[in-house]
Amino acid sequence: MEDMSIKEIHRRLIQKEISAQEIAQLYLDTIKQKEEDLNAFITATPELALEHARAVDAKIAKGENISLLAGIPCALKDAILVEGVRCTAGSKILSEYTASYDATVTKKLRENDAVIVGKTNMDEFGMGGSTENSSFGVTKNPYDLTRVAGGSSGGSAVSVASEETMVALGEDTGGSVRLPASFCGVVGLKPTYGAVSRHGIIALASSFDQVGPFAKTVEDAEIVFQAISGQDELDSTSVAYLYKSHDSIDLKQLKVGVPKEYFSEGLDKEVEKVIKDGLQKLENEGIHIEEISLPHVKYALAAYYIINTSEASSNLARYDGIRYGNAVDSDDLLQTYLQNRGQGLGAEVKRRIMLGTYALSAGYYDAFYLKAQKIRTLLKNDFEEAFQKVDVIMGPVSPILPYKIGEKADDPLAMYLVDVYSVPINLVGLPGISVPAGMASNLPVGMQMISPPFREDLLFAVGKSFEKLV
Ligand code: GLN
Repeated sequence: MEDMSIKEIHRRLIQKEISAQEIAQLYLDTIKQKEEDLNAFITATPELALEHARAVDAKIAKGENISLLAGIPCALKDAILVEGVRCTAGSKILSEYTASYDATVTKKLRENDAVIVGKTNMDEFGMGGSTENSSFGVTKNPYDLTRVAGGSSGGSAVSVASEETMVALGEDTGGSVRLPASFCGVVGLKPTYGAVSRHGIIALASSFDQVGPFAKTVEDAEIVFQAISGQDELDSTSVAYLYKSHDSIDLKQLKVGVPKEYFSEGLDKEVEKVIKDGLQKLENEGIHIEEISLPHVKYALAAYYIINTSEASSNLARYDGIRYGNAVDSDDLLQTYLQNRGQGLGAEVKRRIMLGTYALSAGYYDAFYLKAQKIRTLLKNDFEEAFQKVDVIMGPVSPILPYKIGEKADDPLAMYLVDVYSVPINLVGLPGISVPAGMASNLPVGMQMISPPFREDLLFAVGKSFEKLV
């Protein structure tokens, strides 16, 4: 199955060359074989997968029309609810929670007859960039098992990279789809804020969170995006927009901007070379490339971590063992809180709740939270100005290659710095995709492509040309 696209599998299914149950079984077997090494899944769902696959085979047998995603194995980050299946968000406090309803994206996958093979590992509540902050053990990078897979949606990226599933969904608050996609050599899209419903997704920071697909090719990611996007009355931030196909775009007319701030100090020389070679290949194809500037991008990381922790401190107040989460009994209220939150939540989560509570408190609100929000506006202006000159912006996803497991575990600040190129677009709601650009020291490097809001069609178009060149 390795080199087959969704469209190819679809063709074989309709021609009855292969059945959905055979496909499901192949991937379920791979999960069984590889999980001991990789730990990409928190919960595999073989029964559910085979049940979905049987339904697809029944439709094909009856000669019914099936969607492109019918029979396609799909894994979901464990922050996305699937009715009747455990959903942990990578946290001990939710280790016994079973979802009582489907997220809207899950519902859409089911309507398209995708085959859900399991729930993937993640940093606790999405807080992290390496999947080391999961309560369920670290996910390993398939290119080097001693290295991290990226995060927070590390499990989803690895499951696709190692053929444990064909496609997967992740969630990107500050890079959690693009970073692991880059580290694992797969395609990962963070859609425009509002393009995909977040109903039924366990929130981290609500003004950033977006669900996005992982796939081996840009075309496959596009097919999943088309299936999950669209307005949802259960998420008031979702927007009605009709995804336009890209067939009519003449790539030679496109202008690509490369922000000089994305090639600053701290960018690994090997990563820089892969990215610059990739840009050169596009230029050789006749695509116009020019340097641009995003002057306020240097404040993005600081602003992101103030707003992220502020929103997280509020979103996570509900996990106290009384309203949500595993309960530890105690004699008085203070002890109940201390024990439930103390034992149920990990160190990074507690750190962020404290930071965020501090940033929002009277006396500090203006100095931190408000200032960070103002940076968002400045950054939005930077991007708007840039998009008057160019159609797409490109640069690295990560300043460094996948690092050793444990290397940054005791240094949260070093971990936050890896997000320097990924968080700017989350602050302003723009879409971004990571497309494999090549290898350095036998490790994958992803090219980040950014477009104006709701122009995912541009990202897919450029991404498809790019993957043919590298
Ligand atoms: N690494 C970033 C963080 O820790 C991004 C997380 C995410 O996108 N969920 O906040």
